[in-house]
Amino acid sequence: MVFGECLTFIRQKTRALLILVFLHSFMINREYLCSNHPFATPQTIESIAHSSLAEMRFEGHISFENLEFAARDFGNRYHLMPSAVLHPKSVSDISSILRYVYDLGLSSELKVAARGHGHSLEGQAQAYRGVVISMESLRAPEMSFHGGKHPYVDVSAGELWINILHESLKRGLTPRSWTDYLRLTVGGTLSNAGISGQAFRHGPQINNVYQLQVVTGRGEVVTCSDEQNTDLFYAVLGGLGQFGIITQARIALEPAPKMVKWIRALYSDFSTFASDQEHLISLNNSFDYVEGFIIINRTGLLNNWRSSFSPKDPIRADQFNSDGKLLFCLEVAKYYNPRESDNIDQDIDTLLSELSYIRSTLFMSEVSYVNFLDRVHVSEVKLREEGLWEVPHPWLNLLVPQSRIHEFVAEVFGNIVKDTSSGPVLIYPVNKARWKSGTSLITPDDDVFYLIAFLSSAMPSSTGKDGLEHILSQNKKILSFSQRPYLGIKQYLPHYSTEEEWEAHFGPHWEVFYRRKVSYDPLAILAPGQRIFRRGIAYALQ
Ligand code: FAD
Repeated sequence: MVFGECLTFIRQKTRALLILVFLHSFMINREYLCSNHPFATPQTIESIAHSSLAEMRFEGHISFENLEFAARDFGNRYHLMPSAVLHPKSVSDISSILRYVYDLGLSSELKVAARGHGHSLEGQAQAYRGVVISMESLRAPEMSFHGGKHPYVDVSAGELWINILHESLKRGLTPRSWTDYLRLTVGGTLSNAGISGQAFRHGPQINNVYQLQVVTGRGEVVTCSDEQNTDLFYAVLGGLGQFGIITQARIALEPAPKMVKWIRALYSDFSTFASDQEHLISLNNSFDYVEGFIIINRTGLLNNWRSSFSPKDPIRADQFNSDGKLLFCLEVAKYYNPRESDNIDQDIDTLLSELSYIRSTLFMSEVSYVNFLDRVHVSEVKLREEGLWEVPHPWLNLLVPQSRIHEFVAEVFGNIVKDTSSGPVLIYPVNKARWKSGTSLITPDDDVFYLIAFLSSAMPSSTGKDGLEHILSQNKKILSFSQRPYLGIKQYLPHYSTEEEWEAHFGPHWEVFYRRKVSYDPLAILAPGQRIFRRGIAYALQ
């Protein structure tokens, strides 16, 4: 057989096997239902299910009232009301409820969503008429630190990254890879990737976890790692909550620095900006953090920076006029301890001397490591005071291959996006060589690709450029360009409505994703808000 035929044969065999597995689980569950409720209709099954939930005993508790919080998220556009919220105190609470729902079988519509800090954008942590598990209640185990050559901390998956940072710093340690904002849970970011300015060096957060404890869609509690139950480990990392609920994670740590030199500089030419960013992420001895953002049509930009950054050359900085221009801001940071300050300055000067930014626009700041990492919280506090944190956030995150970035920037910032006043637009490259392969995260094929994040906030009741309708229509135009297959652009924190769109997103990885779903959550109980699989449908029959 030629290679192509061989592949088709293997695919057919795999499908046949999947169908058997599915039918088997269907039969088991039908038997269970029939023996218990011989004349059950879907409606009576749902009400029986709910009253049985109320009778279940948990170390935590299940609640059927005051559920509105579980129907909200940071995106503030999707509001799907669950029937119950479980506040677990132990892993066995989570396993009991999943076993119970699994045993209801295919005839029940009951679904379960883990909710981290609810900072999803399109209802991904919600479950319409289902059960939401509020992971922040799960405080077991207590954070437990281990030193040695490869230090790590064991944490509950409902833990917020900011708490892990504070506890680690007490021991002179820190996680290596971050998100820009730290009031997110471990389980929530590991289900996506966790990407920030450290990812070019350490990979995303899913690269920096040694072991997980997971409760599968069958209710089984499984420990998995690179050595043990490897398929589940890789499935769950970036797995959009589809294969199990992460209950514990073992996070890699390193010695923590005390201070950070935080630097910004502007470019007016994208090619120069991109080539400098790519140069920095290719070096072994580079900055510790490399990001960047795009500025369009903003006035008084440098004056705004002065509250936290000082210009290297104040007189020339005063003469720089940003008005109306398309500008690219490089943002880099170098970590240090105060006694190394002189060497660090030399290292920074050397790195900066190799770059071609507009010389008058170099700005620097020195902040503590914790304030640097927790920088977005400062904006959060201000926005909350102004009532502008809980507005709709129609965010769009894309991963653009290096080979297409110039085409993307020319089209999107030449013809679609005319100003950036509704929120920041991040743009920075990462190095795929440093990223684990085989996880569920989908990235472009190029070795280097860019994260481009349109982080818009919509002003309530505005019908202008900062209104929801305008931003959504702009996102639609960006997406319609980005979805041209030859560009190879992928969504990060992806959002689609149909299985066909998901299949296109996963491309050749769909078959593995699908097989893993059949293995670990065959009844499609978990994370329904991602809208990938539908409860009650035997997908293997396609
Ligand atoms: P939730 O929104 O509660 O859940 C997200 C998904 O994961 C849902 O499908 C949910 O069912 C599932 N899930 C949650 N917990 C578990 C679990 N324990 N086991 C299995 N599945 C689970 N992302 C980045 O990569 N980099 C950034 O710099 C970044 N910055 C951000 C800044 C802000 C202000 C916000 C709001 C978001 C940012 N994000 C960033 C996105 C963020 O990583 C995701 O939205 C993440 O899902 C939010 O975490 P959460 O704990 O609120 O998860």
